[in-house]
Amino acid sequence: MVQPEFRGAIEAGGTKFVCMVGADPAHILAETRLPTTSPQETLPQVIQFFKPFVGSGQIKSLGIGSFGPLDLRPDSPTYGWITSTPKPGWQNVDLVGLLKRELDVTVALDTDVNAAALGEQHWGAGQGYDPILYLTIGTGIGGGYILGGKPLHGLLNPEMGHLRLPHDRSADPFNGVCPFHGDCLEGLASGPAITKRFGLPAEIIPDRDPFWELEAGYIGSALTTFILTLSPERIILGGGVMHRSFLFPLIRQVVREQLKDYLQHSLLTDRIDEYILPPGLGDRSGILGAIALAGQ
Ligand code: ZN
Repeated sequence: MVQPEFRGAIEAGGTKFVCMVGADPAHILAETRLPTTSPQETLPQVIQFFKPFVGSGQIKSLGIGSFGPLDLRPDSPTYGWITSTPKPGWQNVDLVGLLKRELDVTVALDTDVNAAALGEQHWGAGQGYDPILYLTIGTGIGGGYILGGKPLHGLLNPEMGHLRLPHDRSADPFNGVCPFHGDCLEGLASGPAITKRFGLPAEIIPDRDPFWELEAGYIGSALTTFILTLSPERIILGGGVMHRSFLFPLIRQVVREQLKDYLQHSLLTDRIDEYILPPGLGDRSGILGAIALAGQ
């Protein structure tokens, strides 16, 4: 029997660091969750978790999907750093350098959403498709795009959550919550935008509230733009807001209406329920994607 190839994986989030040693969803050796406090406190605990697996020779590589912004330009002197994040204490942290030094393994870093997209392409709803787009709609909105098996990078990292959208103020007078743009996609449709609109947590807004039509309209408009520009073979929508599964048919309907049969493909018409999908890995796309990342 062939021994699975184990790798280290980190999903670095604003509230917790998920750390895992595994080869794929069926072969997971160890997993832990550590609270994200300060780098001085959290990162030594992360290193402690992986040390025994490095020492025994079980892992030689580590993949990280992290909150950002991140410097992912390989020729930059600050490659692998968390840069200008609003999270207190985490500005200018040399994440890749520190873990490489302390653990002596190869380290691959990408954004949390690119890691999630990669996980979905390897083992989830995007399996067998390329390119694929993964969007998380929760505390923030972000997109990861995998083309030719690799996450898309450019001048900087794509920031799909800050897309500008048509905003009809007679139907929705809300100004939005994005500190940079006000009413961009994240400003209008993220969890905090919903909470601010209602003065109540998004989770307790009832399914029948007419607001959800607006929400589906914003997400559907964004998807229409991504379909027209990126032409993904599958679109996967994750994050806390998308736990409201009744949004999926509403969003698909908006996309169909907005495309107006201009693009000729059955996946965009009769089979659109096979095209815009929830994650196949549930809330584990990011951490499992970090395992896939370590293998690149
Ligand atoms: Zn914005």
